[in-house]
Amino acid sequence: MSQDLSSKENPIATRAALGQAIPVTNLPVQRGKIHIKEQKGRFQRLRTGLNSLLILFFFLLPFIPYQGRQALLLDVERQEFHFFSLTLWPQDFTLLAWLFIIAAFALFFVTVFWGRVWCGYLCPQTSWSFAFVWIERQIEGNSNKRHALDKAPWSLEKVVKRGVKHLAWALAGLITGCGFIAYFIPASELYPQIFTLSASFWVTAWVWFFALCTYLNAGWMREQMCLHCCPYARFQSAMFDANTLTVSYDAARGESRGPRKRKQATDLGDCVDCNLCVDVCPTGIDIRNGLQYECINCGACVDACDQTMDKFGYDKGLIRYASENELQKKEVKRFTSFKFVGYGIAVITMLSVFALDLYRHQSIDLNVIRDRQSLYREVGDGRIENSYTLKIRNKTQEDHQYLISLANTANHGIAKETSQKVLIRAGEQLSYPVTVFEQKQADFAGTKLQKQTIAFTVTNLSNPKEKASQASPFFSLSAF
Ligand code: SF4
Ligand code: SF4
Repeated sequence: MSQDLSSKENPIATRAALGQAIPVTNLPVQRGKIHIKEQKGRFQRLRTGLNSLLILFFFLLPFIPYQGRQALLLDVERQEFHFFSLTLWPQDFTLLAWLFIIAAFALFFVTVFWGRVWCGYLCPQTSWSFAFVWIERQIEGNSNKRHALDKAPWSLEKVVKRGVKHLAWALAGLITGCGFIAYFIPASELYPQIFTLSASFWVTAWVWFFALCTYLNAGWMREQMCLHCCPYARFQSAMFDANTLTVSYDAARGESRGPRKRKQATDLGDCVDCNLCVDVCPTGIDIRNGLQYECINCGACVDACDQTMDKFGYDKGLIRYASENELQKKEVKRFTSFKFVGYGIAVITMLSVFALDLYRHQSIDLNVIRDRQSLYREVGDGRIENSYTLKIRNKTQEDHQYLISLANTANHGIAKETSQKVLIRAGEQLSYPVTVFEQKQADFAGTKLQKQTIAFTVTNLSNPKEKASQASPFFSLSAF
Protein backbone atom coordinates (compact mmCIF):
# COMPACT_ATOMS: atom_id res chain seq x y z
CA MET A 1 0.00 0.00 0.00
CA SER A 2 2.61 2.46 -1.10
CA GLN A 3 1.75 6.13 -1.18
CA ASP A 4 3.27 9.29 -2.59
CA LEU A 5 6.84 9.31 -1.39
CA SER A 6 7.28 12.95 -2.19
CA SER A 7 4.93 13.87 0.66
CA LYS A 8 6.69 16.46 2.78
CA GLU A 9 4.46 15.94 5.78
CA ASN A 10 5.45 12.50 6.91
CA PRO A 11 6.82 10.34 4.13
CA ILE A 12 7.48 7.38 6.42
CA ALA A 13 4.10 7.46 8.11
CA THR A 14 2.41 7.07 4.73
CA ARG A 15 4.53 4.12 3.77
CA ALA A 16 3.16 0.90 5.16
CA ALA A 17 -0.06 -0.68 6.06
CA LEU A 18 0.23 -2.12 9.53
CA GLY A 19 1.06 -5.79 9.78
CA GLN A 20 2.08 -6.04 6.14
CA ALA A 21 5.48 -6.02 4.52
CA ILE A 22 6.76 -2.50 4.21
CA PRO A 23 7.18 -1.51 0.57
CA VAL A 24 10.76 -0.50 -0.03
CA THR A 25 11.27 2.63 -2.06
CA ASN A 26 13.34 2.72 -5.18
CA LEU A 27 14.23 6.38 -5.34
CA PRO A 28 17.19 7.56 -7.37
CA VAL A 29 20.32 7.54 -5.23
CA GLN A 30 23.60 9.40 -5.46
CA ARG A 31 25.39 7.43 -8.20
CA GLY A 32 28.95 7.67 -9.40
CA LYS A 33 31.93 7.50 -7.11
CA ILE A 34 30.97 7.73 -3.46
CA HIS A 35 33.58 9.10 -1.08
CA ILE A 36 32.14 8.48 2.35
CA LYS A 37 32.74 11.24 4.85
CA GLU A 38 34.37 9.84 7.97
CA GLN A 39 31.95 9.74 10.86
CA LYS A 40 32.53 9.08 14.53
CA GLY A 41 29.89 7.99 17.00
CA ARG A 42 28.59 5.05 19.02
CA PHE A 43 27.27 3.05 16.08
CA GLN A 44 30.45 3.62 14.09
CA ARG A 45 32.50 2.43 17.05
CA LEU A 46 30.33 -0.66 17.27
CA ARG A 47 30.54 -1.30 13.51
CA THR A 48 34.30 -0.75 13.39
CA GLY A 49 34.78 -3.04 16.39
CA LEU A 50 32.66 -5.84 14.93
CA ASN A 51 34.18 -5.48 11.46
CA SER A 52 37.70 -5.62 12.96
CA LEU A 53 36.80 -8.71 15.01
CA LEU A 54 35.40 -10.42 11.93
CA ILE A 55 38.56 -9.71 9.92
CA LEU A 56 40.74 -10.81 12.82
CA PHE A 57 38.84 -14.10 13.20
CA PHE A 58 38.98 -14.66 9.45
CA PHE A 59 42.77 -14.56 9.48
CA LEU A 60 43.36 -16.26 12.85
CA LEU A 61 40.92 -19.18 12.67
CA PRO A 62 43.13 -21.27 10.36
CA PHE A 63 45.96 -20.96 12.89
CA ILE A 64 44.04 -22.64 15.71
CA PRO A 65 45.50 -26.14 16.17
CA TYR A 66 43.60 -29.16 17.39
CA GLN A 67 45.24 -32.51 18.10
CA GLY A 68 48.17 -31.77 15.85
CA ARG A 69 46.26 -30.41 12.88
CA GLN A 70 44.24 -27.37 11.87
CA ALA A 71 40.99 -27.19 13.86
CA LEU A 72 38.95 -25.81 10.95
CA LEU A 73 39.90 -27.26 7.59
CA LEU A 74 38.02 -28.04 4.39
CA ASP A 75 40.32 -30.65 2.92
CA VAL A 76 39.08 -30.72 -0.67
CA GLU A 77 41.67 -33.26 -1.82
CA ARG A 78 40.65 -35.84 0.81
CA GLN A 79 37.01 -34.69 0.79
CA GLU A 80 36.99 -34.12 4.54
CA PHE A 81 35.70 -31.20 6.58
CA HIS A 82 37.36 -30.91 9.99
CA PHE A 83 35.84 -28.87 12.76
CA PHE A 84 37.76 -29.58 15.97
CA SER A 85 36.92 -33.21 16.89
CA LEU A 86 34.19 -33.48 14.27
CA THR A 87 35.06 -34.74 10.80
CA LEU A 88 32.44 -34.64 8.07
CA TRP A 89 32.61 -36.61 4.81
CA PRO A 90 30.63 -36.00 1.65
CA GLN A 91 27.94 -38.40 2.93
CA ASP A 92 27.57 -36.23 6.06
CA PHE A 93 26.98 -33.06 4.16
CA THR A 94 23.31 -33.06 5.13
CA LEU A 95 24.64 -31.76 8.45
CA LEU A 96 26.34 -28.86 6.68
CA ALA A 97 23.23 -28.26 4.60
CA TRP A 98 21.22 -28.09 7.84
CA LEU A 99 23.71 -25.62 9.22
CA PHE A 100 23.32 -23.33 6.20
CA ILE A 101 19.52 -23.53 6.34
CA ILE A 102 19.56 -22.74 10.07
CA ALA A 103 21.93 -19.81 9.44
CA ALA A 104 19.55 -18.48 6.77
CA PHE A 105 16.54 -18.72 9.07
CA ALA A 106 18.49 -17.20 11.96
CA LEU A 107 19.28 -14.29 9.64
CA PHE A 108 15.58 -13.93 8.79
CA PHE A 109 14.77 -14.03 12.51
CA VAL A 110 17.28 -11.26 13.27
CA THR A 111 16.06 -9.28 10.26
CA VAL A 112 12.45 -9.30 11.49
CA PHE A 113 13.67 -7.73 14.72
CA TRP A 114 16.59 -5.49 13.72
CA GLY A 115 16.31 -5.10 9.97
CA ARG A 116 19.54 -5.44 8.00
CA VAL A 117 21.98 -5.26 10.91
CA TRP A 118 23.85 -8.17 9.40
CA CYS A 119 24.62 -6.05 6.33
CA GLY A 120 25.70 -3.04 8.34
CA TYR A 121 27.74 -4.69 11.04
CA LEU A 122 28.88 -8.19 10.12
CA CYS A 123 28.72 -8.77 6.39
CA PRO A 124 32.21 -9.46 4.97
CA GLN A 125 31.38 -7.21 2.00
CA THR A 126 30.82 -4.26 4.36
CA SER A 127 33.84 -5.12 6.53
CA TRP A 128 36.27 -5.35 3.63
CA SER A 129 34.79 -2.32 1.86
CA PHE A 130 35.25 -0.17 4.96
CA ALA A 131 38.80 -1.55 5.39
CA PHE A 132 39.61 -0.55 1.80
CA VAL A 133 38.06 2.89 2.36
CA TRP A 134 40.27 3.24 5.43
CA ILE A 135 43.36 2.45 3.30
CA GLU A 136 42.18 4.96 0.72
CA ARG A 137 41.73 7.62 3.38
CA GLN A 138 45.25 7.07 4.75
CA ILE A 139 46.73 7.63 1.30
CA GLU A 140 44.46 10.14 -0.43
CA GLY A 141 43.06 12.02 2.55
CA ASN A 142 39.50 12.77 3.70
CA SER A 143 36.43 12.71 1.44
CA ASN A 144 36.88 16.33 0.29
CA LYS A 145 40.48 15.66 -0.72
CA ARG A 146 39.47 12.46 -2.49
CA HIS A 147 36.75 14.27 -4.45
CA ALA A 148 39.29 16.98 -5.33
CA LEU A 149 41.83 14.38 -6.44
CA ASP A 150 39.20 12.73 -8.66
CA LYS A 151 38.59 16.04 -10.42
CA ALA A 152 42.24 17.13 -10.58
CA PRO A 153 44.14 16.62 -13.85
CA TRP A 154 46.76 13.89 -13.91
CA SER A 155 49.96 15.02 -12.19
CA LEU A 156 52.93 13.30 -10.54
CA GLU A 157 51.20 13.59 -7.15
CA LYS A 158 48.00 12.04 -8.46
CA VAL A 159 49.90 9.20 -10.16
CA VAL A 160 51.88 8.48 -6.99
CA LYS A 161 48.82 8.57 -4.72
CA ARG A 162 46.74 6.41 -7.02
CA GLY A 163 49.65 4.01 -7.57
CA VAL A 164 50.33 3.61 -3.84
CA LYS A 165 46.62 3.15 -3.15
CA HIS A 166 46.19 0.43 -5.75
CA LEU A 167 49.35 -1.31 -4.57
CA ALA A 168 48.07 -1.25 -1.00
CA TRP A 169 44.68 -2.57 -2.14
CA ALA A 170 46.38 -5.31 -4.16
CA LEU A 171 48.44 -6.30 -1.12
CA ALA A 172 45.32 -6.36 1.07
CA GLY A 173 43.62 -8.48 -1.60
CA LEU A 174 46.57 -10.87 -1.71
CA ILE A 175 46.61 -11.27 2.07
CA THR A 176 42.86 -11.93 1.96
CA GLY A 177 43.36 -14.48 -0.83
CA CYS A 178 45.93 -16.34 1.31
CA GLY A 179 43.63 -16.11 4.34
CA PHE A 180 40.78 -17.65 2.37
CA ILE A 181 42.81 -20.48 0.85
CA ALA A 182 44.16 -21.30 4.34
CA TYR A 183 40.72 -22.79 5.07
CA PHE A 184 41.36 -25.36 2.32
CA ILE A 185 45.11 -25.96 2.63
CA PRO A 186 46.67 -26.08 6.11
CA ALA A 187 47.98 -22.59 6.95
CA SER A 188 51.24 -24.09 8.23
CA GLU A 189 51.91 -25.40 4.71
CA LEU A 190 50.32 -22.62 2.67
CA TYR A 191 52.08 -19.54 4.04
CA PRO A 192 55.64 -20.95 3.78
CA GLN A 193 54.83 -22.11 0.24
CA ILE A 194 53.53 -18.66 -0.70
CA PHE A 195 56.45 -16.77 0.84
CA THR A 196 59.07 -19.08 -0.72
CA LEU A 197 57.21 -19.04 -4.05
CA SER A 198 57.11 -22.84 -3.97
CA ALA A 199 53.31 -23.22 -4.04
CA SER A 200 51.87 -25.33 -6.85
CA PHE A 201 50.36 -23.68 -9.90
CA TRP A 202 46.77 -24.30 -8.75
CA VAL A 203 47.34 -23.06 -5.21
CA THR A 204 48.96 -19.90 -6.58
CA ALA A 205 46.17 -19.47 -9.12
CA TRP A 206 43.43 -19.75 -6.47
CA VAL A 207 45.20 -17.30 -4.14
CA TRP A 208 45.50 -14.78 -6.97
CA PHE A 209 41.92 -15.39 -8.03
CA PHE A 210 40.58 -14.54 -4.58
CA ALA A 211 43.04 -11.65 -4.29
CA LEU A 212 41.63 -10.23 -7.53
CA CYS A 213 38.03 -10.76 -6.37
CA THR A 214 38.77 -8.92 -3.11
CA TYR A 215 40.55 -6.08 -4.91
CA LEU A 216 37.67 -5.57 -7.35
CA ASN A 217 34.97 -6.16 -4.81
CA ALA A 218 36.14 -4.04 -1.89
CA GLY A 219 38.14 -1.53 -3.91
CA TRP A 220 35.96 -0.88 -6.93
CA MET A 221 32.54 -2.46 -6.59
CA ARG A 222 31.77 -1.78 -2.90
CA GLU A 223 28.14 -0.69 -2.55
CA GLN A 224 27.41 -1.78 -6.13
CA MET A 225 27.60 -5.39 -4.90
CA CYS A 226 24.94 -4.62 -2.28
CA LEU A 227 22.79 -2.71 -4.75
CA HIS A 228 22.96 -5.02 -7.75
CA CYS A 229 24.33 -8.44 -6.80
CA CYS A 230 23.16 -9.27 -3.29
CA PRO A 231 19.77 -11.05 -3.35
CA TYR A 232 19.26 -10.38 0.36
CA ALA A 233 18.82 -6.64 -0.31
CA ARG A 234 15.99 -7.47 -2.67
CA PHE A 235 13.92 -9.80 -0.54
CA GLN A 236 14.48 -8.14 2.83
CA SER A 237 11.17 -6.29 2.63
CA ALA A 238 9.35 -9.62 2.73
CA MET A 239 10.77 -10.13 6.23
CA PHE A 240 10.09 -6.66 7.58
CA ASP A 241 6.92 -5.79 9.39
CA ALA A 242 5.70 -2.66 11.14
CA ASN A 243 7.63 -3.63 14.30
CA THR A 244 11.02 -4.10 12.63
CA LEU A 245 13.74 -1.75 13.85
CA THR A 246 15.26 0.04 10.89
CA VAL A 247 17.25 3.21 10.55
CA SER A 248 14.47 5.77 10.11
CA TYR A 249 14.09 9.47 9.78
CA ASP A 250 11.44 10.89 12.11
CA ALA A 251 9.74 13.01 9.49
CA ALA A 252 7.02 14.21 11.87
CA ARG A 253 9.75 15.83 13.95
CA GLY A 254 12.16 16.82 11.19
CA GLU A 255 9.85 18.43 8.63
CA SER A 256 9.68 21.03 7.33
CA ARG A 257 13.40 20.93 7.01
CA GLY A 258 15.55 23.96 6.39
CA PRO A 259 18.86 25.62 7.26
CA ARG A 260 19.08 28.03 10.19
CA LYS A 261 21.60 29.51 12.57
CA ARG A 262 22.28 27.84 15.89
CA LYS A 263 19.82 28.77 18.63
CA GLN A 264 17.72 30.70 16.10
CA ALA A 265 13.98 30.53 16.86
CA THR A 266 12.17 29.02 13.87
CA ASP A 267 8.91 27.33 12.84
CA LEU A 268 10.86 24.74 10.91
CA GLY A 269 11.20 21.11 11.97
CA ASP A 270 14.40 19.79 13.54
CA CYS A 271 16.15 18.85 10.29
CA VAL A 272 18.61 21.64 9.53
CA ASP A 273 19.24 20.20 6.06
CA CYS A 274 22.98 19.89 6.68
CA ASN A 275 23.13 16.88 4.33
CA LEU A 276 25.58 15.12 6.65
CA CYS A 277 23.39 12.00 6.74
CA VAL A 278 23.82 11.70 2.97
CA ASP A 279 27.56 12.49 3.00
CA VAL A 280 28.35 9.65 5.41
CA CYS A 281 26.11 7.06 3.76
CA PRO A 282 28.13 4.23 2.17
CA THR A 283 25.37 3.57 -0.35
CA GLY A 284 24.79 7.24 -1.14
CA ILE A 285 21.11 7.44 -0.22
CA ASP A 286 19.10 10.06 1.60
CA ILE A 287 17.37 8.28 4.47
CA ARG A 288 14.96 11.21 4.73
CA ASN A 289 13.23 9.77 1.66
CA GLY A 290 12.15 6.79 3.79
CA LEU A 291 13.10 3.16 3.89
CA GLN A 292 15.10 2.17 0.83
CA TYR A 293 16.42 -1.20 -0.22
CA GLU A 294 19.92 0.33 -0.53
CA CYS A 295 20.07 1.03 3.22
CA ILE A 296 22.33 -1.45 5.00
CA ASN A 297 21.36 -0.25 8.48
CA CYS A 298 24.94 0.74 9.30
CA GLY A 299 23.89 3.63 11.55
CA ALA A 300 26.39 6.14 10.09
CA CYS A 301 23.59 8.61 9.39
CA VAL A 302 22.31 8.14 12.96
CA ASP A 303 25.70 9.20 14.36
CA ALA A 304 25.96 12.06 11.87
CA CYS A 305 22.52 13.42 12.66
CA ASP A 306 23.04 13.04 16.43
CA GLN A 307 26.17 15.13 16.06
CA THR A 308 24.20 17.86 14.24
CA MET A 309 21.37 17.70 16.77
CA ASP A 310 23.93 18.17 19.53
CA LYS A 311 25.40 21.22 17.83
CA PHE A 312 21.97 22.83 17.45
CA GLY A 313 20.88 21.93 20.94
CA TYR A 314 18.06 19.58 19.78
CA ASP A 315 17.31 16.14 21.16
CA LYS A 316 19.22 13.34 19.53
CA GLY A 317 17.39 10.66 17.56
CA LEU A 318 15.94 12.56 14.60
CA ILE A 319 17.40 9.64 12.66
CA ARG A 320 17.36 6.51 14.80
CA TYR A 321 16.66 2.80 14.90
CA ALA A 322 12.89 2.81 15.08
CA SER A 323 9.95 0.80 13.82
CA GLU A 324 7.02 2.00 11.76
CA ASN A 325 4.69 1.52 14.71
CA GLU A 326 6.99 3.53 16.95
CA LEU A 327 7.15 6.40 14.46
CA GLN A 328 3.40 6.35 14.11
CA LYS A 329 3.05 6.25 17.89
CA LYS A 330 1.23 2.95 17.74
CA GLU A 331 1.63 -0.08 19.95
CA VAL A 332 4.92 -1.85 19.29
CA LYS A 333 4.69 -5.66 19.36
CA ARG A 334 8.34 -6.47 18.94
CA PHE A 335 8.38 -9.90 20.57
CA THR A 336 4.89 -11.02 19.74
CA SER A 337 4.65 -10.23 16.05
CA PHE A 338 3.62 -13.16 13.86
CA LYS A 339 6.88 -13.15 11.87
CA PHE A 340 9.13 -12.88 14.92
CA VAL A 341 7.41 -15.79 16.67
CA GLY A 342 7.18 -17.82 13.44
CA TYR A 343 10.86 -17.49 12.53
CA GLY A 344 11.82 -18.05 16.18
CA ILE A 345 9.93 -21.36 16.31
CA ALA A 346 11.41 -22.39 12.95
CA VAL A 347 14.97 -21.69 14.13
CA ILE A 348 14.50 -23.51 17.46
CA THR A 349 12.93 -26.53 15.72
CA MET A 350 15.71 -26.75 13.16
CA LEU A 351 18.38 -26.32 15.82
CA SER A 352 16.86 -29.22 17.77
CA VAL A 353 16.82 -31.47 14.69
CA PHE A 354 20.40 -30.48 13.91
CA ALA A 355 21.52 -31.22 17.48
CA LEU A 356 19.82 -34.63 17.33
CA ASP A 357 21.44 -35.36 13.96
CA LEU A 358 24.81 -34.33 15.36
CA TYR A 359 24.30 -36.49 18.46
CA ARG A 360 23.51 -39.50 16.26
CA HIS A 361 26.40 -38.75 13.96
CA GLN A 362 28.44 -41.97 13.78
CA SER A 363 32.17 -42.20 13.84
CA ILE A 364 32.02 -45.45 11.84
CA ASP A 365 30.57 -45.79 8.39
CA LEU A 366 29.55 -49.29 7.32
CA ASN A 367 28.40 -50.32 3.89
CA VAL A 368 27.76 -54.02 3.17
CA ILE A 369 27.96 -55.14 -0.46
CA ARG A 370 26.93 -58.69 -1.42
CA ASP A 371 28.97 -60.72 -3.86
CA ARG A 372 27.17 -60.36 -7.18
CA GLN A 373 28.82 -63.39 -8.81
CA SER A 374 26.89 -66.10 -6.91
CA LEU A 375 23.94 -66.11 -4.53
CA TYR A 376 25.47 -68.86 -2.38
CA ARG A 377 28.16 -71.57 -2.42
CA GLU A 378 27.84 -75.13 -1.13
CA VAL A 379 31.02 -76.40 0.43
CA GLY A 380 31.83 -80.01 1.21
CA ASP A 381 31.13 -80.27 4.93
CA GLY A 382 27.46 -79.28 4.65
CA ARG A 383 28.08 -75.60 4.93
CA ILE A 384 26.52 -72.97 2.71
CA GLU A 385 28.48 -69.78 2.29
CA ASN A 386 27.69 -66.24 1.11
CA SER A 387 30.37 -63.64 0.42
CA TYR A 388 30.27 -59.94 1.18
CA THR A 389 32.56 -56.94 1.03
CA LEU A 390 32.36 -54.62 4.02
CA LYS A 391 33.35 -51.03 3.39
CA ILE A 392 34.26 -49.68 6.80
CA ARG A 393 35.35 -46.09 7.29
CA ASN A 394 37.04 -44.86 10.43
CA LYS A 395 35.67 -41.32 10.63
CA THR A 396 37.73 -40.36 13.67
CA GLN A 397 41.13 -38.70 13.77
CA GLU A 398 42.85 -41.73 15.39
CA ASP A 399 43.69 -45.27 14.29
CA HIS A 400 41.34 -47.88 15.78
CA GLN A 401 40.91 -51.63 15.89
CA TYR A 402 37.41 -52.84 15.02
CA LEU A 403 35.58 -56.10 15.68
CA ILE A 404 33.34 -57.48 12.93
CA SER A 405 30.48 -59.63 14.18
CA LEU A 406 27.10 -60.98 13.22
CA ALA A 407 24.22 -59.79 15.36
CA ASN A 408 21.40 -62.09 16.55
CA THR A 409 22.15 -64.88 14.10
CA ALA A 410 22.37 -68.20 15.91
CA ASN A 411 22.89 -70.54 12.90
CA HIS A 412 25.42 -68.41 11.10
CA GLY A 413 29.03 -67.63 11.60
CA ILE A 414 31.89 -65.79 10.00
CA ALA A 415 34.24 -68.22 8.28
CA LYS A 416 37.44 -68.89 10.21
CA GLU A 417 39.64 -67.77 7.35
CA THR A 418 38.31 -64.25 7.89
CA SER A 419 39.96 -62.31 10.69
CA GLN A 420 37.26 -60.61 12.75
CA LYS A 421 39.52 -57.85 14.01
CA VAL A 422 40.78 -55.18 11.67
CA LEU A 423 42.91 -52.10 12.13
CA ILE A 424 41.77 -49.00 10.25
CA ARG A 425 43.86 -45.87 10.10
CA ALA A 426 42.41 -42.45 10.98
CA GLY A 427 40.04 -41.22 8.29
CA GLU A 428 40.60 -44.25 6.06
CA GLN A 429 38.16 -46.65 4.47
CA LEU A 430 38.82 -50.38 4.40
CA SER A 431 37.28 -52.74 1.83
CA TYR A 432 37.16 -56.04 3.67
CA PRO A 433 35.93 -59.36 2.19
CA VAL A 434 33.91 -61.50 4.61
CA THR A 435 32.50 -65.01 4.17
CA VAL A 436 29.47 -66.03 6.22
CA PHE A 437 28.41 -69.67 6.52
CA GLU A 438 25.32 -71.52 7.60
CA GLN A 439 25.88 -74.97 9.06
CA LYS A 440 23.59 -77.75 7.71
CA GLN A 441 23.65 -81.49 8.26
CA ALA A 442 26.17 -83.22 6.00
CA ASP A 443 23.36 -85.24 4.32
CA PHE A 444 21.02 -82.22 4.02
CA ALA A 445 19.31 -82.13 0.61
CA GLY A 446 17.32 -78.89 0.35
CA THR A 447 16.23 -77.66 -3.08
CA LYS A 448 14.28 -74.43 -2.43
CA LEU A 449 16.06 -71.09 -2.40
CA GLN A 450 15.72 -69.48 0.99
CA LYS A 451 16.42 -65.84 1.85
CA GLN A 452 17.19 -64.83 5.42
CA THR A 453 18.40 -61.52 6.83
CA ILE A 454 21.63 -61.26 8.72
CA ALA A 455 23.16 -58.13 10.25
CA PHE A 456 26.82 -57.16 10.43
CA THR A 457 28.05 -55.11 13.32
CA VAL A 458 31.37 -53.29 13.46
CA THR A 459 32.49 -52.22 16.94
CA ASN A 460 35.34 -49.94 17.89
CA LEU A 461 37.34 -52.02 20.37
CA SER A 462 38.72 -48.98 22.19
CA ASN A 463 35.20 -47.56 22.64
CA PRO A 464 32.53 -50.31 22.36
CA LYS A 465 29.78 -47.68 22.33
CA GLU A 466 30.91 -46.70 18.85
CA LYS A 467 29.37 -49.27 16.56
CA ALA A 468 27.59 -49.46 13.23
CA SER A 469 25.26 -52.17 11.92
CA GLN A 470 23.80 -53.01 8.57
CA ALA A 471 21.52 -55.83 7.47
CA SER A 472 22.01 -57.87 4.30
CA PRO A 473 20.31 -60.95 2.77
CA PHE A 474 21.76 -64.44 3.20
CA PHE A 475 20.76 -67.04 0.60
CA SER A 476 20.75 -70.80 1.21
CA LEU A 477 18.67 -73.88 0.40
CA SER A 478 15.65 -75.05 2.31
CA ALA A 479 13.89 -78.43 2.26
CA PHE A 480 10.46 -76.75 2.11
S1 SF4 B 1 20.90 5.39 5.17
FE1 SF4 B 1 22.08 5.46 7.07
S2 SF4 B 1 21.98 3.37 7.88
FE2 SF4 B 1 21.32 3.30 5.74
S3 SF4 B 1 23.19 2.78 4.63
FE3 SF4 B 1 23.02 5.02 4.62
S4 SF4 B 1 24.20 5.65 6.40
FE4 SF4 B 1 23.84 3.48 6.65
S1 SF4 C 1 21.92 14.87 9.36
FE1 SF4 C 1 19.99 15.20 10.40
S2 SF4 C 1 19.79 17.41 10.34
FE2 SF4 C 1 21.34 16.96 8.85
S3 SF4 C 1 20.19 16.71 6.95
FE3 SF4 C 1 20.32 14.70 7.85
S4 SF4 C 1 18.42 14.50 8.99
FE4 SF4 C 1 18.68 16.68 8.58
